[in-house]
Amino acid sequence: MSERPVEAYIGLGSNLDQPRAQVEQAIAELDRLPRSRVRARSRLYGSRPLGPADQPDYVNAVVCLETGLDPLPLLDALQAIEQAHHRVRERRWGPRTLDLDLLLYGTRRIDLPRLRVPHPQMHRRDFVLRPLLEIAPEIGIPGLGPAAPLLAQCPDLGARPLV
Ligand code: ATP
Ligand code: MG
Ligand code: MG
Repeated sequence: MSERPVEAYIGLGSNLDQPRAQVEQAIAELDRLPRSRVRARSRLYGSRPLGPADQPDYVNAVVCLETGLDPLPLLDALQAIEQAHHRVRERRWGPRTLDLDLLLYGTRRIDLPRLRVPHPQMHRRDFVLRPLLEIAPEIGIPGLGPAAPLLAQCPDLGARPLV
């Protein structure tokens, strides 16, 4: 276990089986992880699918999780929550009930086969950057610098807050 808690940012996404409820429930489940607390959460965002277009739009959000879990146990916990939401892996970037990606873990950079942090695609995804900047406007991405200017260069997947 880490000596002191770290601020991790987690990106949530769902486009199957009541996506808003999937995301809201997952946020509550993140708050119940051992040695962890959700410190901030974004609104829900809607976005067009990345990859195969023949699937429903997505609901996305980002949370800041203060956690004493080390990165790999945290990834295990995220994957257990995905499984509990009956996630089935079929094709790459295909529809899913729940996707939980570890975006940032403090200022750490991690390059393992199972876990790459910062998430290597986060700076190219408006459905990540918009909710992230909503809750952490000053945040930086290790290796890339401040997140805010990256949004301008990022492809437009139409991520907008849901009403
Ligand atoms: P993408 O990662 O491009 O958003 P995805 O979320 O659909 O795609 P998954 O099927 O959820 O991909 O995960 C594939 C693998 O990615 C997982 O088995 C996991 O071990 C690995 N992985 C690597 N880095 C991360 C990370 N930062 N967060 C979550 N999973 C990661
Ligand atoms: Mg993902
Ligand atoms: Mg994932």
